[in-house]
Amino acid sequence: MMKIGSHISSAKGYEAMGKQALKLGASTFAFFTRNPRGGNAKAVDKEDVEKFLTLWKAKGYGKIVAHAPYTLNACSDKPEVRRFAREAFAEDLQRMEYTPGNYYNFHPGSHVGQGTEEGIRWITELLNECLYEEMTTTVLLETMAGKGSEIGCSFEELQAILGQVRLSGKLGICLDTCHVWDAGYDIAGDLDGVLEEFDRIVGLDRLKAIHINDSQNGLGSHKDRHARIGEGCIGLDAFVRLINHPKLEGLPFILETPNDDAGWAEEIAMLRDVYRGER
Ligand code: FE
Ligand code: FE
Ligand code: ZN
Repeated sequence: MMKIGSHISSAKGYEAMGKQALKLGASTFAFFTRNPRGGNAKAVDKEDVEKFLTLWKAKGYGKIVAHAPYTLNACSDKPEVRRFAREAFAEDLQRMEYTPGNYYNFHPGSHVGQGTEEGIRWITELLNECLYEEMTTTVLLETMAGKGSEIGCSFEELQAILGQVRLSGKLGICLDTCHVWDAGYDIAGDLDGVLEEFDRIVGLDRLKAIHINDSQNGLGSHKDRHARIGEGCIGLDAFVRLINHPKLEGLPFILETPNDDAGWAEEIAMLRDVYRGER
């Protein structure tokens, strides 16, 4: 079954997210574990989570993809920002265990002038402090556009982190199509080549989720401005090839396109329409 969905507001809790996802025709979704630009997290209501899990199981749907707040920067030059990152990350991993076996996606961070190596060191340190043996969540590093001093805009940088974390088996990658395009990977002209490169450097077994976004800017622009599917520089044909690519089969595809609910429902329906497997 095709796994596709969008970001859904977590303001009203888990069951509300599940119901909203169904309304949009989604079979997976993403949500922010806390205010994406702030930092506060609401307490988890166990009963609410149970209702969601029951609903999701009844539908036979698979993994959901939580998103860490944008303000979480594991490799800031400011100790208090790194402390917030560590605390929010650790707390989010605890919360994730209410919905066992799902994904927690985060932006590796921006080194803000300290240099890539130092940034990777901080990110690795956070992961070594926060990941723990008993956790059932897989933490996903997101591929980044390379805006400013972002870490994770090359497969090599992501692999450098994966290779240095003690509990590396708890880690995977979420590939954001807008971001890799903006970073210079030509997924429109040579998707096979990009996936081969990913496989060679990181390993396709690490690829767990796709953020499916068109880009307002050209290949290698490092801008990170998302566009609706087919309305940007990547173009619809590339997305038709992407969702139907055998190496990406079964992965959750998450829309982060500039849209309202009606727009996402339309995009989901449109992508199901051009999907050649079981919809
Ligand atoms: Fe993201
Ligand atoms: Fe993304
Ligand atoms: Zn983005």
